[in-house]
Amino acid sequence: MTNKSNTIYSFINGKYLESNGITQNIYNPATGEITAQISMGNSDEVNIAVNAAKEALGEWSKLSALKRSRYLFNYVELLYKNKEKLAQLITSQHGKVFDDALGEVQRGIEAVEFACGIPNLLKSEMSFQIANNIDSYSMRKPVGVCTGITPFNFPLMVPLWMFPLAIACGNTFVLKPSEKDPAAAILAVELLHETGIPKGVVNVVHGNKKVVDALLTHEDIAAVSFVGSTPIAKYIYETASKHGKRVQSLGGAKNHCIVMPDADMNDATNGLMGAGFGSAGERCMAISVVVAVGNETADKIVSNLSSKIETLKVAPGDIKGAEMGPVISKEHKEKIINYINSGIEQGASLIKDGRNFICPNYEKGFFLGPTLFDNVKPDMTIYKEEIFGPVLSVIRVGSLKEAISLINKNQHANGTAIYTKDGASARQFSYEIQVGMVGINVPIPVPMSFHSFGGWKNSLFGSNGMHGSEGVHFYTRLQTVTAKWDSSSFTENNQFFMPTLQ
Ligand code: NAD
Repeated sequence: MTNKSNTIYSFINGKYLESNGITQNIYNPATGEITAQISMGNSDEVNIAVNAAKEALGEWSKLSALKRSRYLFNYVELLYKNKEKLAQLITSQHGKVFDDALGEVQRGIEAVEFACGIPNLLKSEMSFQIANNIDSYSMRKPVGVCTGITPFNFPLMVPLWMFPLAIACGNTFVLKPSEKDPAAAILAVELLHETGIPKGVVNVVHGNKKVVDALLTHEDIAAVSFVGSTPIAKYIYETASKHGKRVQSLGGAKNHCIVMPDADMNDATNGLMGAGFGSAGERCMAISVVVAVGNETADKIVSNLSSKIETLKVAPGDIKGAEMGPVISKEHKEKIINYINSGIEQGASLIKDGRNFICPNYEKGFFLGPTLFDNVKPDMTIYKEEIFGPVLSVIRVGSLKEAISLINKNQHANGTAIYTKDGASARQFSYEIQVGMVGINVPIPVPMSFHSFGGWKNSLFGSNGMHGSEGVHFYTRLQTVTAKWDSSSFTENNQFFMPTLQ
């Protein structure tokens, strides 16, 4: 993966490409120490990677789907064998606790398991005898060289949402992982090569905007998958579309959870603790807003959450029993503190303050304690913007209707949930809510790999979500053949009318 100086390089055509270019530090967020360097690529590296993928495309796309799936079956085994190692790499560069990292690896592997079913997923449709001696059939064919640009918060799972399904469909791939924690993605690509997969089918280029721009505008890239923050997701969608690519671009989130007066308060509290503070709130499906219906419900949930927060174990992710690790960087920690300051200035009630939390023996780590606000209003910055940290806001409303209307006005629409024991309330919520992924007494409703993952509004630009049938559609294009073989029905004269089949 790295040389003696601990530098992580781009991986192209089955090997690392050592270069003397610009490097950037990679940190262990729990200690605050620099643990490696990443070599930031440039447009030349992008050209080399795209050429390698283009070169590999011909043979790979012609391989039968069954043969492509066999590589992936072997890949699944290797991923399971290396599950702990992958999780350790995630914890050491991202900071999330080890059990959470293991869960990320598992969800990533499930996306590969879904891709293993590609021979079945690509079965075509056929209409026999649509007219006299004429048949018609539709096929889904690969789109070409695809690229994936991924965020820091799921350094393994999000890449595994993308390249395994893309290559299963017969495409080749260039991955641009987050420059903050690339180690798990790099190991995943190394493991893929242990299956003997042809070189150039999957390549990795590291870098930031310069490299991303080179990918978005490259004439040999056919499709762009992106997951990250909303402003960048919008930019990716607009730039890549302008350059003729198909694009699926998943953005940020502000996920609300309604708590109804009839909810099981213990279940709701436990669910909200995990959904609000798990992974230090750095999940695109984290709950950041609790919408409590009625003052009694709000008082109860705030009191429950504050006592649970007292017992939450904040510690480095590799320490046994840790429940919440540090945030990704010093800069991100400062940004979150500024959000908390703005919440206080704008009049929200600060119930628990995580700003001054210090983790014993890890004073230089990027730790924050869990923070809870009550009486948050929709015009406050902490409500309007995605904080992406361990900060939970409680908004008080008078009715389910008011709660639904609040959520439907938000610019983001990734995930949402409701806690209730009443079937009619749950049904009204799931029917009226304008959000992509909906939970009923399930606070983080992340769809399984055989369904598709994606939000609405500013949480997804483009029309296809990740994995499931939408993923297969994104990585393939439809071709329909109409065929006549019987020479007795061949014509002898010109035909100028619109063909109609009888
Ligand atoms: P980010 O947008 O800063 O970065 C994502 C990727 O884009 C990285 O690979 C980065 O190198 C690249 N990038 C950054 N700035 C760029 C620029 N100006 N031009 C081109 N490329 C650029 O996101 P992040 O901080 O890594 O991840 C957190 C964000 O991702 C949050 O907003 C979170 O909600 C979102 N996210 C969304 C989903 C989803 O499914 N909707 C899933 C995970 C994360």
